[in-house]
Amino acid sequence: MSGKAGLRPGTRAVHAGLNPAENLCAVTAPIYQSATFVAADTEELMAINTGARRGFVYSRVRNPTVMAAEQRVASLEEAQSAVLYASGMAAIAGAMAPFLKAGDGVVALPEVYGGTAKYFRDVLPAQGVTVTWARDLTPGAVADCIGSMTRIIYVETPTNPLVRVVDLAAMSELAREKGLMLVVDGTLGSPMNQRPLALGADLVVHSASKYLNGHGDLIIGAVCGSRDLTRKLRSHQQASGAIVDPHAAWLLMRGMATYALRIAQHNTSGQKVAEFLAAHPAVTCVHYPGLPDHPDHALACRQMTGFGGLLAFEMRTPEAAQAVVDRTRLFGIGPSIGGVESLISQPGNTSHFSVPADERRKMGISDSLVRISVGIEDAEDLIADLSQALEVCE
Ligand SMILES: *Cc1c(COP(=O)(O)O)cnc(C)c1O
Repeated sequence: MSGKAGLRPGTRAVHAGLNPAENLCAVTAPIYQSATFVAADTEELMAINTGARRGFVYSRVRNPTVMAAEQRVASLEEAQSAVLYASGMAAIAGAMAPFLKAGDGVVALPEVYGGTAKYFRDVLPAQGVTVTWARDLTPGAVADCIGSMTRIIYVETPTNPLVRVVDLAAMSELAREKGLMLVVDGTLGSPMNQRPLALGADLVVHSASKYLNGHGDLIIGAVCGSRDLTRKLRSHQQASGAIVDPHAAWLLMRGMATYALRIAQHNTSGQKVAEFLAAHPAVTCVHYPGLPDHPDHALACRQMTGFGGLLAFEMRTPEAAQAVVDRTRLFGIGPSIGGVESLISQPGNTSHFSVPADERRKMGISDSLVRISVGIEDAEDLIADLSQALEVCE
């Protein structure tokens, strides 16, 4: 098995993690649905235990199918190594837990995924870890929050649902200067559109439930980084148990095979839908970094190679926002992003439901905001559907 270094992303998405010659020439990775592995004799078992010989002992520790999927994720992210987790949230928790103890601090940006905000609000403080929220997304705001106990800077980019972009090169320079770890949730960009490790991040976290898998049929997470750091993650994961089932890992591998094709379509359709909405009289504002008037357009052009399928737009009233959501026919009403199917929602009812309303408004998430995850359907059909949904609001 190998990461297929030197090949382009579309090729790596298909081939990384596979070695047919090792697996009876099967063209896909076999699913090793086995809890335990047996050794030929005690000597072999000990050789595997000590790492002198490649092999497997128990699937909470190492499983060949999970390893293959991890190699494909690492290959796409151009990371030395990747660790898969039972969900994106388990990946976020797993990325930080080995590096935090009671008394330590995390500085987080104000726009993070709703579940992450809940984790920072409810879980980390109960473990004695202080979470300080920066006032905005700039390195200056983060620098003002750094204290002697700060260990980690936690960033999500682009953000959800306002699709703001954080300057990763500047943020990693700050982290290096202060001797801190920079952890980046790169779910929304995903590796074909941005590569935070190349810009200096220490760890990149993915909800692989989104673009990496892409088919809306799996909850799974990943953390990518250097071999040194991921070794610590693996050790913590083996002890705490938030591992991935081999079947889920296999589904992720299959989903990732079409990753490059899907992202190209999400990028093209996202731009078309954003431009349509920006020109529509009933829409007061569109949040999409591919639009020239987006506040982070220039930064996004520097840092990203595509802008993805997530966008949000403002209607004049909450009622109009609700009407658009309810009138669309091709868009499923629901949370999540990055799947082949288009989805629509009001963030207050879905991704940010667990964030108190006043905090939500402080984050810039108004009740008139509508979020769309543009899928891989024909953009013209999506635009026609939005057009008829918006008619009542003109
Ligand atoms: C969905 C999501 C998560 C959480 O991932 P799960 O796989 O649902 O646990 C974290 N971060 C971002 C940006 C997400 O979109």
